[in-house]
Amino acid sequence: MSKTRRALTKEEILEFKEMLEKKRDEIWQDIRNELKSRVSEEYHSLINDVNDEEDLAQIDLQEEVILGVLEARKKELEAINHALWRIEHGEYGRCLECEDWICLERLKVRPWAVYCLPCKEELERRGKI
Ligand SMILES: [Zn+2]
Repeated sequence: MSKTRRALTKEEILEFKEMLEKKRDEIWQDIRNELKSRVSEEYHSLINDVNDEEDLAQIDLQEEVILGVLEARKKELEAINHALWRIEHGEYGRCLECEDWICLERLKVRPWAVYCLPCKEELERRGKI
């Protein structure tokens, strides 16, 4: 795999933003489907409007049902929201450890990545992540 470590262009950042938002929508679609499979018909129309955790809190579902469904996807959602936050704050694409650019090829596979590959491997080796 070639390594392209450089600042991202505005267009590239926009592309990653779209990828991240699409992925987030897909996850929420999964969460809605999963919730519907667990609750009675009367809640289904309410669940259709759920797009984030705040919406979820508005529905009168049993907490363990919500938590059970959400917990499995929570890490992914947090990683995506964090990446979107970094885009907003102009920090997207930089490694949190060495502050060098995360290579483009890696971001294309994992647009929510916050470490470059060498740092990620090193942190894993040391049991930090
Ligand atoms: Zn790094």
